[in-house]
Amino acid sequence: MELGYWLGRGAEAFRDWARTYDEFAAHPATAVDEAACEVAFEELLARLRGSYPFFHPCYAGQMLKPPHPVAVAGYAAAMLVNSNNHALDGGPATSVMEEEVVEQLAEMAGFEAHLGHLTSSGTQANLEALFVARESRPGAGVAVSSEAHYTHARMCHLLGVPVFTVPVDARGRMDMGELERLLSTGAAGTVVATTGTTALGAVDPLHRIVPLARRYGVRVHADAAYGGFFRLLTGGRTGGRPDGRADERADRRQAPFAPETADALRALARCDSVAIDPHKHGLQPYGCGAVLFGDPDVARFFRHDSPYTYFTSRRPHLGEISLECSRSGAAAAALWLTLKLLPLTPDGLGAVLAAGRRAAVRWAGLISDSPCLEPYQPPELDIVTYYPAVPGSSPPRLSRVGVASKEVMHQGMNAKEDPVFLSVARVTADAFTARHAGAVADSDHTHVLRSVLMKPESEPYLDRLHQRVGRLAKTSWPAARGSGR
Ligand SMILES: *Cc1c(COP(=O)(O)O)cnc(C)c1O
Repeated sequence: MELGYWLGRGAEAFRDWARTYDEFAAHPATAVDEAACEVAFEELLARLRGSYPFFHPCYAGQMLKPPHPVAVAGYAAAMLVNSNNHALDGGPATSVMEEEVVEQLAEMAGFEAHLGHLTSSGTQANLEALFVARESRPGAGVAVSSEAHYTHARMCHLLGVPVFTVPVDARGRMDMGELERLLSTGAAGTVVATTGTTALGAVDPLHRIVPLARRYGVRVHADAAYGGFFRLLTGGRTGGRPDGRADERADRRQAPFAPETADALRALARCDSVAIDPHKHGLQPYGCGAVLFGDPDVARFFRHDSPYTYFTSRRPHLGEISLECSRSGAAAAALWLTLKLLPLTPDGLGAVLAAGRRAAVRWAGLISDSPCLEPYQPPELDIVTYYPAVPGSSPPRLSRVGVASKEVMHQGMNAKEDPVFLSVARVTADAFTARHAGAVADSDHTHVLRSVLMKPESEPYLDRLHQRVGRLAKTSWPAARGSGR
């Protein structure tokens, strides 16, 4: 798709629409000098070169990639209108698009009934779910795993809700025994399960958490900000076989999930609320999260009157079920257009996620076979964690692992030729030794390398990436050995 054409088409259609109204003069106060614009614009373009190349598969670091051109074209066309989805007065056309995409997200999650809306971020989506959790279980706390996104502790602090941290198992998933111990005290009214943790892509066992929580009358919120779209690859109601088993054709195209991962993702359907970020795995530009509630009746917690906005319609306004006021209507339009072309099916958006998943599984295999690299843990979704193997340092020493990992990251990103961009994750000594029993814990924490393979382009590029990182690992040896301890 030729982005330039569609950007121009959006601008042209906007001009044509504007011409259907009575002619009016632009005000000189907003006039800008073309030559000055040229200078300033060139400066902007030069400054943007100061970013990392998120678009390229040599960028295999954080959860970053550009939006799909379709989303950019849809966003730009709608941004010219600049509708505000807070109220139907501000976004009559784009509010309807928002309702439609939220319906599709709810169907993907497996919700029968739902209440939901887009948000400006996953943080906001989680905040709204935690707010409803507090209103539904006054006085009770929230249980999160020690690997949950830090936003939960922050937002609970903001809401004045106590937080209980549940330890994780040797794969970074919420420990069920510890959760049950906590729930039996009656202190928690809500469990937050993360389906796809930010650091490791670990999926909490939601299919076991839901029945346990129900036994104690506790709510369940799934933070699927990162991992929610992987539901497209687990078969069942969303595009697969109605009996809930993964369809075989889909299985051949993808690197299948461990059964407990697939079961956990399918259990999204049974949660009280789900947060999911189209600006992570939904090909959208930033400014697009979503929150879904299974019980439409939670709308009562948001009820308020607006002295300014709710006038043109008796229909409910999105602002009546959200905590944010102004929200981008263009974000809804961009997602709406994207899902028209890459729908929420295994063959639509699912094919994009499947490529990253296959790349992660294949890279983990190459890492295991490499003399230069060691796997930290197998990828549960599409996030690969690993560290440089330092010869003469077996069993691995944590201090050396951390130095070598950071050295590889820095050498890679600063290389004049053939740079490669990775990230590191901080892990505790306990977490490391839980995965690598013989490791020498000469430090209370260390860093391992982390690559989020969320671009499908990573799949065909993988061999190059692997070779490059392997060579970097070798150059990290002197620094690691010199780290002394
Ligand atoms: C990214 C992320 C968040 C925060 O979402 P933002 O969109 O960055 O505000 C919360 N939880 C998880 C699991 C995430 O991956």
